[in-house]
Amino acid sequence: MDLWRAPPGQALVFRCPLLYILNVQVKTAPDEIQDYLRDTSNMPDGHAERLIMPSSIEEVQAVLREAYAAKIPVTISGARTGTVGGAIPFGGWLLSLDKLNTVKSLDRTAMKIIVEPGATLDEVKKAAEAEGLLYPPDPTEWS
Ligand SMILES: Cc1cc2nc3c(=O)[nH]c(=O)nc-3n(C[C@H](O)[C@H](O)[C@H](O)COP(=O)(O)OP(=O)(O)OC[C@H]3O[C@@H](n4cnc5c(N)ncnc54)[C@H](O)[C@@H]3O)c2cc1C
Repeated sequence: MDLWRAPPGQALVFRCPLLYILNVQVKTAPDEIQDYLRDTSNMPDGHAERLIMPSSIEEVQAVLREAYAAKIPVTISGARTGTVGGAIPFGGWLLSLDKLNTVKSLDRTAMKIIVEPGATLDEVKKAAEAEGLLYPPDPTEWS
């Protein structure tokens, strides 16, 4: 029995109470996961039990606690532009950073910007421009 598919309030609550309470988005359908089984390396045969899409630090913590307790490998998935296959899972869970894309703060005095790991360069650039600043690196890269 796949406990992750159990109806709310039943086995799912028993196995992973924090994930259930936080309502972390979990995808298991092959067509929803397939794009996350590849990166720029084009390494074949990637596979994962589920794709988990946390949208907060608390959700990341809950996912990793659950995986650690169950000894399940977790592969972090960013923009999947890596060229050596590091984002391709070979079993276990995929943890996508897609929803962790917020620009948290921009300190003009310190010239420091804090962003979540899924924020794209385009979003960082726009946040800088909104403050009249220029984010100069990566002139041809916006992902
Ligand atoms: C056309 C092209 C040009 C490129 N040019 C350059 C270049 O000029 N300079 C350069 O440095 N690189 C370059 N790269 C490489 C690529 O952009 C980098 O590898 C990129 O920074 C990876 O980021 P990503 O979000 O796509 O990570 P992914 O490919 O999704 O992941 C890469 C690895 O990091 C892990 N990971 C990702 N995010 C996190 C996180 N937040 N916490 C922990 N682990 C994480 C993944 O599990 C994986 O092992 C280029 C790639 C392409 C396709």
